[in-house]
Amino acid sequence: MRLILLGPPGAGKGTQAKILSSKHGIPQLSTGDMLRAAVADGSAVGLRAKSVMDSGQLVSDEIVNEIVAERVDQPDSARGFILDGYPRTVVQAESLAAMLEGKSKQLDAVIELKVDEEALGRRMENRVRETLAAGGSVRADDNAESFRRRMSEYHAKTAPLSSFYARAGLLRVVDGMAAMSAVTAAIENQLAAAVRN
Ligand code: AMP
Repeated sequence: MRLILLGPPGAGKGTQAKILSSKHGIPQLSTGDMLRAAVADGSAVGLRAKSVMDSGQLVSDEIVNEIVAERVDQPDSARGFILDGYPRTVVQAESLAAMLEGKSKQLDAVIELKVDEEALGRRMENRVRETLAAGGSVRADDNAESFRRRMSEYHAKTAPLSSFYARAGLLRVVDGMAAMSAVTAAIENQLAAAVRN
């Protein structure tokens, strides 16, 4: 199964991708995680990406397309994968389509998590406050300013992917504000329907 999870920052894509990954035995491919790993390694890609990520802007299409192409070629992706945080631009979506076509593979579904963005902003601020109060550490882009930037990048560059995938007949929307287990169940229902089609 090849699946994309779409939705704004903080919508729960990563949480759902982890649950689905262990249920279906296919990897979660999170470009955010891959980029953070590159930053932690101090690799050339990481050095180029760090300040862009910290500010909440998008890393270049060229960089992310390349890391996804490499990741998709690894053996554990052969049975499928869950893309979390990729594609984020129409250029990336087109690159993914060409990449899959070159391998004679297809996407099964694109699931969009619909959320109340103001509630998400409050949720993010509370989570950061609680984590810091408990002595934990948060991501460098987990602050109000970067969050606003990530949200505006989402509207400008990622939101158009909904109609892109709707036109391709792949888009399925679920309520991302429901309880975590209810969101998982709704995604599973949509996947079952997509596979029947
Ligand atoms: P995430 O963990 O998905 O919220 O991603 C964290 C940050 O990594 C984003 O704010 C971007 O700076 C960068 N990033 C992750 N995925 C992509 C992508 N597909 N295209 C461009 N930048 C990305």
